[in-house]
Amino acid sequence: MSDAKQATEPEAIDFESELQLALERANDDESHVEHDAETMHPSQIAACKRQAYLGKLGLKDHTDILGTFQTGTLIHEFIEDHVGGHVDAEFEKAVELERDGVRFVGHTDCYDPAANAVYDVKSRNGWYRFDPPKDRHLDQMHVYMAATGAEYGQVVYVNKGDLEVRTWPEDGLFEFDPERFGAIVAKAQQVRDAVRDHGIASSEDEVPFDRCGCFLCDNETLQFGD
Ligand SMILES: [Zn+2]
Repeated sequence: MSDAKQATEPEAIDFESELQLALERANDDESHVEHDAETMHPSQIAACKRQAYLGKLGLKDHTDILGTFQTGTLIHEFIEDHVGGHVDAEFEKAVELERDGVRFVGHTDCYDPAANAVYDVKSRNGWYRFDPPKDRHLDQMHVYMAATGAEYGQVVYVNKGDLEVRTWPEDGLFEFDPERFGAIVAKAQQVRDAVRDHGIASSEDEVPFDRCGCFLCDNETLQFGD
């Protein structure tokens, strides 16, 4: 009964678990999942074929990296809200492009009609091993460029610690490379065909692409349907 302890310590809010639950509520697990064979998001098809397949079908478990996603989202939202009204450009512009039997859907961070350029914000933890650009980022941007008709692009790196910005190219814009985009379309077609031929994997054995040795393959956590 209550007489066992007169002065029980009050119970503290458990912020560790509350914050994790908040991240799970804030992140819609299905938001980038596409169950058809043809549709892919630019960030997915910029990864290797295995990760593109796993990503579009929702077979990756993101529970442990929701916090990383969220800090990235906060930075994007801050830029959209506080830079967006002060430069003549469209932020979070929806894009969609069909090409040779595959379909790309997503949002480009910033489209600048005067320069006919897209900008993509990549948040990172400091500048250790900063060695831009990553092919994966350029591939992703080439999809946005093809979809908007932008001839130019720039990667905008933002340090999560203090919002310091560095860009690639350092001073200016890079040009659209039709060959690079052609290779992305070819990769998307291979992923599409794998979904058509093998369906949606229900176990790791059924994933039609082996781990390729990339960072994402080396660090993947999978989740299969219930
Ligand atoms: Zn890989």
